[in-house]
Amino acid sequence: MDNLNPHAELLIKAQVILTQNQDREVLEHAGLAVGQGLILDIGDWEAVSLRHPGAKVLDLGRSMLLPGLVNAHTHAPMTLFRGAGEDMLLMDWLTQRIWPLERELTPELIHLGALLACAEMIRFGTRAFLDGYMHEEEVGRAADTTGLRAVLGEGFFRFPSPLFPTAQAAWDRVEFLRERFAGHPRIGLSYCPHTVYTTDPEDLAESYALARKHGLIWQTHCSENAAEIESCLSLYGKRPLALLAEMDLLGPGTVLHHCVDLTQAEMALLAETRTGVVHCPESNMKLGCGQAPVRALLKAGVAPALGTDGAASNNNLNLFGEMRRAALLQKVASLDPTALPAQTALDMATRHGAAVLALPGDQGLVPNAPADLIALDLTFPNLMPLHNPVSQAVYAACGQEVRLNMVDGRILYRDGCYLTLDYPGLSAEVRQAQTWVKNRLPV
Ligand SMILES: [Zn+2]
Repeated sequence: MDNLNPHAELLIKAQVILTQNQDREVLEHAGLAVGQGLILDIGDWEAVSLRHPGAKVLDLGRSMLLPGLVNAHTHAPMTLFRGAGEDMLLMDWLTQRIWPLERELTPELIHLGALLACAEMIRFGTRAFLDGYMHEEEVGRAADTTGLRAVLGEGFFRFPSPLFPTAQAAWDRVEFLRERFAGHPRIGLSYCPHTVYTTDPEDLAESYALARKHGLIWQTHCSENAAEIESCLSLYGKRPLALLAEMDLLGPGTVLHHCVDLTQAEMALLAETRTGVVHCPESNMKLGCGQAPVRALLKAGVAPALGTDGAASNNNLNLFGEMRRAALLQKVASLDPTALPAQTALDMATRHGAAVLALPGDQGLVPNAPADLIALDLTFPNLMPLHNPVSQAVYAACGQEVRLNMVDGRILYRDGCYLTLDYPGLSAEVRQAQTWVKNRLPV
């Protein structure tokens, strides 16, 4: 390794490192040097430790290091509604449970829900998330203090809405957030129309133009289920993707969540325009939406990321579950066990996610990448023996084995302890919020 740096602050030693680099190298008896928030060196432990004498050593023993995971679609504050409406039809769930609760939500409760989401994501090995909700300043504050990376999305529906009387008010809000988090090393902004059929075409076009002007992500739910396609057809006489394509809203800065109901031509279009796609297998299964054609998307040249969606429709923010489900769902849909290999599922949660969110670190754990990494405890019974580290991470791990989560060179969680948040205090506040939610649910 030529990238010598005398200022390594910490050397991490582990039994195995899944680098997720270009060649998907798996290193054994390996080490990694961290300094100034970056990976400075990675390779054989003896060699790395010799190149950086004097640096502090963190020996993780029987652990496996890998890049932190990227949650490319969530609604973080919805953790407060986890379990508040189960096994219901989508419109009943929205109109009878979620929307009445959301009408009364305060910025304080949104902050609390976002903090709980950050605690969960940190605990289960996530390093970054793409969010979409309201009062996103509160989500940004939670990501700022807990140390995660986040791309915020202030969601909007057809105007006037309870939050925004006019489109201009919504654009002003994004501008405020852009200034509020300007220059933040871990927090970015996006424009976030809810869907094609719940917003007006001129607002889609205007928000897209603003996103392009400021170099921000433009994200929306798209082709989530057959009912959405029907709504779009009856409103515009076109499927959602056809409308987006006709309006020239597809491209590398566009991120489409779900993409369950796609034609072959639409998949080719997504690949050709290099549009970002986020697969949310557990949410799709739980809401009975169907299974996204991920294998065909990959074949067409799309590199889908993974997302959990909100905790009210999942019901957790655990990407280990999503990796496993993403692989299994393609196998069962095609009756072919080769359909989506473990390595592809891991790529979706790491490299693809980083690329879709335009984050650093999309080339894995390599010198000069951000020191965003997690460690799995290989002494867990479900992680022994270790014949195949990639399959262990995707098919055997459930997320509880995460013993270290480092983002930007800062340790956020280690061996049962949160280093950036007061978990007992947070739990007590969440218990109070539980009463707030319960008092507003139908008896
Ligand atoms: Zn969603």
